[in-house]
Amino acid sequence: MGEPLIVLDKVSRVYTSGESTVVALDRIDIRIDAGEMVAIVGASGSGKSTLMNILGCLDRSTSGHYRIAGRDVASLDGDELAALRREHFGFIFQRYHLLGELTAIGNVEMPAVYAGLSSADRHDRAAGLLHRLGMDKRQAHTPGQLSGGQQQRVSIARALINGADVILADEPTGALDSRSGEEVLRILDEIHAEGRTVIIVTHDMAVARRARRIIELRDGAVVSDRPNADDDAAVAKMRAAGVQGAGIGVPRAPRWRAGLSRFWEALRMALSSMNAHRLRALLTMLGIIIGVASVVCVVALGSGSQERVLANINSLGTNTLEIFPGKDFGDTRSAKIKTLVVADARALAQQPYVAAVAPTVSTSSTLRFGAIEASAQISGVGEQYFQVKGTQLAEGGFLDADSVRSYAQDAVIDDNARKALFPDGTTSPVGQVILVGRVPCRVVGVTRQQQSGFGSSANPTVYLPYTTVQARFLGDRSLRSVSVRVNDTTSTDAAEQAVTRLLTERHNAKDFFILNTDDIRRTIQSTTQILTLLVAAIAVISLIVGGIGVMNIMLVSVSERISEIGVRMAVGARQTDILQQFLIEAVLVCLIGGTLGIGLAVGFGAVFNVFDVGFRLIYSTTSVVVAIVSSTIIGVAFGYMPARNASKLDPVVALSRE
Ligand code: ADP
Ligand code: MG
Repeated sequence: MGEPLIVLDKVSRVYTSGESTVVALDRIDIRIDAGEMVAIVGASGSGKSTLMNILGCLDRSTSGHYRIAGRDVASLDGDELAALRREHFGFIFQRYHLLGELTAIGNVEMPAVYAGLSSADRHDRAAGLLHRLGMDKRQAHTPGQLSGGQQQRVSIARALINGADVILADEPTGALDSRSGEEVLRILDEIHAEGRTVIIVTHDMAVARRARRIIELRDGAVVSDRPNADDDAAVAKMRAAGVQGAGIGVPRAPRWRAGLSRFWEALRMALSSMNAHRLRALLTMLGIIIGVASVVCVVALGSGSQERVLANINSLGTNTLEIFPGKDFGDTRSAKIKTLVVADARALAQQPYVAAVAPTVSTSSTLRFGAIEASAQISGVGEQYFQVKGTQLAEGGFLDADSVRSYAQDAVIDDNARKALFPDGTTSPVGQVILVGRVPCRVVGVTRQQQSGFGSSANPTVYLPYTTVQARFLGDRSLRSVSVRVNDTTSTDAAEQAVTRLLTERHNAKDFFILNTDDIRRTIQSTTQILTLLVAAIAVISLIVGGIGVMNIMLVSVSERISEIGVRMAVGARQTDILQQFLIEAVLVCLIGGTLGIGLAVGFGAVFNVFDVGFRLIYSTTSVVVAIVSSTIIGVAFGYMPARNASKLDPVVALSRE
């Protein structure tokens, strides 16, 4: 016959805390065969629990060797020990150590989750075990709703669910009245009769006498190891039958399914723990909510205002150049510079890259129609002006080349002028004669209202041929500006250079400046982008602050649930299982917070868009995706440290925490 199932070889366990050392176990030699039922007795403080923790691979010996089925546990890493606890050991504790948030059946199923049983299998097995232990009607009760004896039966079922072949019971009846205690002992007897190895720790000789062998400890040493008086034929019988405590077959789900099932379990745990601390979870989320909402809003504001500004630019006309006299907009002498003339506009019209040219002059004057008077902007324009600007008509026609050549007193009025002069809206302005200053003009057309645009104020504007304005209003042949539409095959930048060259040559000096709409568009685009980035960066800082809040709460949550972590480790949870559980919780908090934040931002946008402030908030999918992704990243980044702390806990230390 080979080596016994359990072999302790001069095993010692020394606790050191600061200066003092306690020798809890002192060079212990114990051998236990498969299928034995052993009681470990001794006074309080004699080292029974310490021995039990070492036997169950929750704790390691300070010196000596512990071999299970020939394998030295010193050579196993944390996950291998967890696997041993999961597959081969079943723990029963004096204080049951059930998880309060789970139902009876949930508690029983838990080790099977870590062992990778499919959910149907584990439910069936758990229900079967609870049925066998007379707990049929209590499956859905939480531990708080169960008596001590019932809780202990749940914990026995939990110890059995993975088909453990060694059951370790530390004072299983210690907290029970004598009747419930008797019941638990009867169950342990049955379990033993199935061929499992049962090791019971007790200080009660009456309990110990149920075992076939009694090992007595005193001050960490074995003082006696004797067979019980009425040793059994039963063990011999079982050995003959070859039962030997062989692992009871447990069906395993495929690997990926097992992993998924553990993930679901972790998710469920995270949700139930958040549910248990709703207010705290919400307050934790608040940082993330505000952070995400502000990032999304700022980006939406940025793109909304950018859209608005670009629309304004587009209303200037696409690929157009505006030529003004003077050095730049700030040039106070530009009104006195008279070098920009109609001949320049004619020369420009000859250029191959020019599609249309419109010389303009401007002044202001009073409009009069009947008894109605209004002050207006007078624009003297060339016939191609409307084409250059992309102006659209509401009715009538534009000024034509004839009216420009013949100094005609024809006028095109804009929508504002129409409203001012023809407020009733029933008479058509076209064909009517209005007074512009003292010049009577016939209205030939009405332009459509411009959606947006610089100077799209309520100020009425009247367009007359520039020749008429020069002759009748200004008495001067210089121009206020020349608008040039560049043809589609030439870039506005190239055209700008060519125009500069041409006019510099004609004037022998650069006494003009050019406004390039493309240029303005680009500048505004980059400016608003930079501004948006800047404000978004500030919002990101608030996200980071939110993340720190999450980390803080996760640390609290871990320290509150240390004993839960201990129980999970005792039933065989891997370090990664614990890590995953807390990480999922952190990510969940951030993700839910992020989603609420996006909701808040969208709600804000809806309210904002109700009030007409001139532009809308534009939500980009990118910013929403980025918000979701970044809140996940924050969850992982700030949840990792607390989760790792949890997974690195020593199972014995964690278990002893109440
Ligand atoms: P029992 O279960 O037989 O009552 P324990 O195994 O719990 O005894 O304890 C054995 C001895 O080891 C006691 O003297 C106890 O004070 C000491 N001990 C137990 N756990 C620790 C620990 N974590 N740190 C220091 N001393 C400990
Ligand atoms: Mg003890």
